[in-house]
Amino acid sequence: MAEFDVDLFVIGGGSGGVRATRIAAGHGARVMIAEEYRMGGTCVIRGCVPKKLFVLASHIHQEIEDAAGFGWTIPPVTFDWPTLVANKDKEIARLEGIYTSNVEKSGARIVKTRAVLEDAHTLRLANGEAVKAKYVLIATGSAPNHGEAIPGIEHVISSNEVFHLPELPKRIVIQGGGYIALEFAGIFAGFGCDVTVIYRGDNILRGFDEDVRSHVRAEMEKEGITILTGCTVEKVDRHGKEFTSHLSNGSSIASDRVMFAIGRHPNVANLGLEKAGVAINPHNGGIAVDDFSKTSVSNIYAIGDVTHRINLTPVAIREGHAFADTVFGKRTVQVDHANIPTAVFSQPEVGTVGLTEKQARAQFSDVDIYKTDFRPIKATMSGRDTRILMKLVVDGTTDRVVGCHIVGDAAAEIIQAVAVAVKMKATKAGFDATIALHPTAAEELVTMRTPTARYVRDEAAE
Ligand code: FAD
Ligand code: NDP
Repeated sequence: MAEFDVDLFVIGGGSGGVRATRIAAGHGARVMIAEEYRMGGTCVIRGCVPKKLFVLASHIHQEIEDAAGFGWTIPPVTFDWPTLVANKDKEIARLEGIYTSNVEKSGARIVKTRAVLEDAHTLRLANGEAVKAKYVLIATGSAPNHGEAIPGIEHVISSNEVFHLPELPKRIVIQGGGYIALEFAGIFAGFGCDVTVIYRGDNILRGFDEDVRSHVRAEMEKEGITILTGCTVEKVDRHGKEFTSHLSNGSSIASDRVMFAIGRHPNVANLGLEKAGVAINPHNGGIAVDDFSKTSVSNIYAIGDVTHRINLTPVAIREGHAFADTVFGKRTVQVDHANIPTAVFSQPEVGTVGLTEKQARAQFSDVDIYKTDFRPIKATMSGRDTRILMKLVVDGTTDRVVGCHIVGDAAAEIIQAVAVAVKMKATKAGFDATIALHPTAAEELVTMRTPTARYVRDEAAE
């Protein structure tokens, strides 16, 4: 009798787990993958994909408003939330089917159940069955934080519930100043809701470039979103269908929904990690891994959000692929986590890659900043009060472009292409040598000639 039932047992059928499964099976491994909810995981079922569909749906509102300046008379329009939700659900079910069939086609076996570790090589399924695996990959992802147990927390929704609200709220309070809070603030504002964002710090998008933070805030406020900083929600009361959020600054706000988007925690609880001897990273609460995603136990690996490194889908996918190639493909692959592009699909959108101005100044002695903010050509006719921000951060010693930050329409699409140049260590001279593509917004990236700021560290004075 074989010592192991499978070569690889993957816990979690999300972005990272599915990629690792397919690649490992392609290398000839016998793979079993367990998913307790729906194949596709957070990104496909209740993350990136449905979120982007909602962003696209809500942005149509601006297109309609902008049309008049271009000569269009559009009859009064109506928006039907249940239709959007139903069509979104249909698309998500289609994608879930594709994820399932792709795994099955790879030869791996899916078990639709929760799986936990009994020891380093034994998995226990919900029906009591035990599976012996040579290698285990933990790809259990993450879940929304609820924060402290404030009175009325049971009335608060997270990004898990927001995709299935039975009706569109007319007013919504969203606590948080990060990706999810700002993306949903834009979504609901686009649908005509009255949106209030509550953020505990002094400005939204902590960790992003300071110019990006202030530009996004100003643009969102121009679109009618209220952003209250320096306060938190301390209590939520319910009166029938209405909620009252009591804030730490003493004020209160009535709304039809209250949503918290205050970060996510890695899914490490009740997984049997202690029984198997898998260590937690004390700095971030995720599973501790080395550069090859190996945990403290030599046959157990972990990838994606559960490691709480960089919680983005393409990162989980890359880590899953690298794991499968390294362990089953006789090819050692290490994921390079530097210069990963990212976008916040707020309205306006943020696209960013590389270092912020502050990070660059801490790292390099000479830093040149090239920055412009301008009215997009479309706004000249639509009359919309909006400006695009573009910023390059350059290491003055090597002339390398070490950061690029964009706020405005298509920022995410533009930054994906700029990320190739930044990853290839492109210089500012290389950007300058590139001929502009006119008329675009992105052409500004290759036409900024004079630094708007130049910082030279006085080493002698330090
Ligand atoms: P997941 O995709 O979370 O998959 C983990 C899976 O494991 C889940 O399906 C879960 O049910 C399953 N599971 C957990 N425990 C067990 C168990 N014991 N047994 C069996 N199954 C188990 N990222 C982007 O790059 N771009 C975006 O635009 C973007 N938008 C987002 C929007 C929202 C609202 C959210 C919440 C996230 C978004 N993300 C985005 C982040 C992205 O979704 C995650 O980084 C990505 O899904 C992580 O992949 P993963 O494989 O690590 O985990
Ligand atoms: P973020 O980390 O982006 O933002 C969390 C926000 O909540 C921050 O503003 C944070 O404030 C605030 N916060 C944290 N704890 C508390 C608390 N106890 N009380 C009040 N406010 C609090 O997390 P999200 O939940 O928005 O998203 C989770 C992750 O999912 C993202 O970090 C990202 O990795 C991924 N994601 C990616 C997307 C994309 O690629 N477009 C879209 C959505 C999610 P402070 O800054 O002060 O800490």
